[in-house]
Amino acid sequence: MKATADVVVIGGGVIGTSLLFNLGRLGVTDTLLVEKDVLGSGSTGRSQTICRMHYSNPVTATMAWESLGIFTHFGEVVGGESGFVETGYLVVVKEEDRGGLERNVALQYQLGIDTMQVTADDLRDIAPMVSVSDDEVMAWEPQSGYADAHMVTTSYGIRAREMGAEVSLRNAASAIEVEGCKVRAVVTEQGRVETPVAVVASGPWSKGVLAQVGVDVPLVPVRHQVASLSRPVDKLPLHPMVGDIAQSFSFRPDGREQTMMGFGPDGDDDLETYNQGVDMDVMAEALSCLAHRIPAMAEAEFRRGWSGLFTTTPDWHPILDAVPGIEGLYCAIGFSGHGFKLSPMIGVTMAELIVEGKASSVDISPLRFNRFQEGDLLESSYRYRVLA
Ligand SMILES: Cc1cc2nc3c(=O)[nH]c(=O)nc-3n(C[C@H](O)[C@H](O)[C@H](O)COP(=O)(O)OP(=O)(O)OC[C@H]3O[C@@H](n4cnc5c(N)ncnc54)[C@H](O)[C@@H]3O)c2cc1C
Repeated sequence: MKATADVVVIGGGVIGTSLLFNLGRLGVTDTLLVEKDVLGSGSTGRSQTICRMHYSNPVTATMAWESLGIFTHFGEVVGGESGFVETGYLVVVKEEDRGGLERNVALQYQLGIDTMQVTADDLRDIAPMVSVSDDEVMAWEPQSGYADAHMVTTSYGIRAREMGAEVSLRNAASAIEVEGCKVRAVVTEQGRVETPVAVVASGPWSKGVLAQVGVDVPLVPVRHQVASLSRPVDKLPLHPMVGDIAQSFSFRPDGREQTMMGFGPDGDDDLETYNQGVDMDVMAEALSCLAHRIPAMAEAEFRRGWSGLFTTTPDWHPILDAVPGIEGLYCAIGFSGHGFKLSPMIGVTMAELIVEGKASSVDISPLRFNRFQEGDLLESSYRYRVLA
């Protein structure tokens, strides 16, 4: 492992690797990424990887939209494949949330995002397999879809390496050395690397990494469950992704024969000891919600399941900033349940911030470090935090 680097990134999830690649694109190639396990082994590898734009705030809606453009042109922009599959995304909310849905669709429309409010009649053309009731309200995003977490993460890592970056696996960072309020080095299991810049992109572990230099961040790990199902392809060859807010769960196709379903309840959990499997009783409830939304799914069969951790902040939005008080320390943390879809633009904007002193592609100041202390949290149009 190298002994000096211009930038050290701590964490090899989709965020750390996207940043490493984008640093290279801005000409900063004497870089090192350290990952305590293997690339994508944290929240990234457990993600449902849904890429949708239905957000309540311009900063995240814009990032999701511009990231979608990168996922769909990944070969040209990054190199390698993202595994993106366009499926369309349907949001379903109850009548009492109509205002929130209409507000979000109007916001996205203003931003040039391809979305529209739809009726039950429209659904007969768009997604006839989906069943809705009279007291439900829907929005449709035709261009949304899902990508492959491992393809995206490893493609970013490989391309960054081709530009000169070093990726060091099974190598945990144990300390960030700070001298005179400036980053001096990162200490890892495989040695010490002198660097003026360290970036914490350590997913659910970020709170501990930052605590080591006396920085407290309001991150809480929250468990979320995922099940993979075989669907009855003779009756249901296709279906779109659905953010079923009315029933508090989501699902998407996973290839030609399977469906992936994400469900709660989303409770605070312990980073090291949380149950990484699924609760069968909770999954049975989610299955009955699925059959309610798509009746043919009553014949779906459970294949396997897992759980992962959202890294939540008080407003369920990330923190993208320099860490105040320590020159050269940055963080890209707190992505809650929606960091994958934003990851291409997180890498772009964080690289701009680090190299040029300001994110110019998207104004990320609403996601600044101090917003919680300032009481300036981002608001959601809904009570459901996962939609942010
Ligand atoms: C079940 C589930 C479903 C999700 N579904 C979606 C979805 O549909 N769409 C969406 O957009 N988002 C979704 N998300 C959220 C998304 O997956 C995350 O926001 C995103 O993957 C976060 O990436 P990351 O790189 O910040 O974190 P991680 O992937 O956790 O990466 C952090 C890395 O840092 C490493 N690390 C930690 N400490 C150290 C250390 N000291 N030294 C070296 N390395 C270290 C870890 O090993 C890990 O690999 C979901 C998340 C979960 C858990």
